[in-house]
Amino acid sequence: MHWQTRLVQPQTLAPAGFRSLATPTYRGSTVLFERQADVVDDWRHGDGTYSYGLYGTPTALELAGRIAQLEGAHHTFVVPGGQAAIALIYLSFCRAGSHALVPFSAYGPNSEMAQGLLKGLGIEVEAYDPLIGGAIGNRIRDNTALVWVESPGSVTMEVQDVPAICKAARAQGVPVALDNTYSAGVMFDAFAHGVGVSMQALTKYVGGHSDLLLGTVSVNADALKQRIGATFKQLGLAVSPDDCSLALRGLQTMGVRLAQLERSTLEIARWLAEQPGVASVFHPALPSCPGHELWKRDFKGSTSVFSMLFNADFTANQVESFVDALNLFQIGMSWGGLTSLALVYPSLDRPGKDYAGRLVRLNIGLEDPSDLKADLTQAMQAMRRPA
Ligand SMILES: *Cc1c(COP(=O)(O)O)cnc(C)c1O
Repeated sequence: MHWQTRLVQPQTLAPAGFRSLATPTYRGSTVLFERQADVVDDWRHGDGTYSYGLYGTPTALELAGRIAQLEGAHHTFVVPGGQAAIALIYLSFCRAGSHALVPFSAYGPNSEMAQGLLKGLGIEVEAYDPLIGGAIGNRIRDNTALVWVESPGSVTMEVQDVPAICKAARAQGVPVALDNTYSAGVMFDAFAHGVGVSMQALTKYVGGHSDLLLGTVSVNADALKQRIGATFKQLGLAVSPDDCSLALRGLQTMGVRLAQLERSTLEIARWLAEQPGVASVFHPALPSCPGHELWKRDFKGSTSVFSMLFNADFTANQVESFVDALNLFQIGMSWGGLTSLALVYPSLDRPGKDYAGRLVRLNIGLEDPSDLKADLTQAMQAMRRPA
């Protein structure tokens, strides 16, 4: 054979027997079959039944398996990000004419998809008060195909009565999907509390280093796996094996990171609650957080993200200057990494609440908490200085 042929069809292979602690990064689009008769196009990858890289190489399936174990799920799908996980869930359960319920406190881009893409497809998504509890049953209609819960909610941190919502939805045969990103899939046991579908953005705590985007959708029953799998296949939600490899590495240190983040975050949240000028702190482990009692009942712990509300005598410009004056806290979206972050939410849509320009969402990182408190102190002094 010519060398060009040998270049693309190599005959030598690395020696077998290498054992390491790291999961190999398997790249691959084409999957090889022994015989034509073996050729299938099936997303259900498993032992010896791979068909196409789009549905996951062994690196992605290793990650999926570990998340399923962590969450106690029957099956986990790995998708390109948390937002892709949200889209996969909507499109698996809703069709033209369907109705879905989503809390006011849902992750912003979830609501944006509801009012944008989904509306265009003839799917009606109705927002509800996150503290509705079992009364969600009264909002369920004949065409309700899905109820979303997110606990604690994004930015305003309302803890929901997930068991009561699941009970009411189950009574009317409606599946409940949970955005479990806050809990990293561990602080809240979705399936033990009645949820059928649980998603998280691995981008946050599993990745943990602000350098990858991935999401998961986990289910507790085979019927849900088959239903979501059919949509997963058609949408072509491929993930990078390199990102999956980073997420597998992130999982190894997530236990120690979460423990440290919980401690530092609690220390800073409690300290902030006592500072003059701070009207309220929305951290689920503090009584000032809506649904705090539910958090105590249902959660194993808390994580690194919470919000602070400044007194009404501060102007939006002053709150902005507070964020700008921070040195260690960086300004940026996403959270769950090693770096502390701060962000103002100037136009939060929360019926009955006036948080306009006064609410700052913080993510605590792995810096020493006393340095972070000093940074917050100097920024609160700076915001009081005349412009
Ligand atoms: C970040 C986030 C998402 C989206 O995750 P991406 O990976 O950034 O798409 C979804 N839900 C919640 C609650 C989030 O915080």
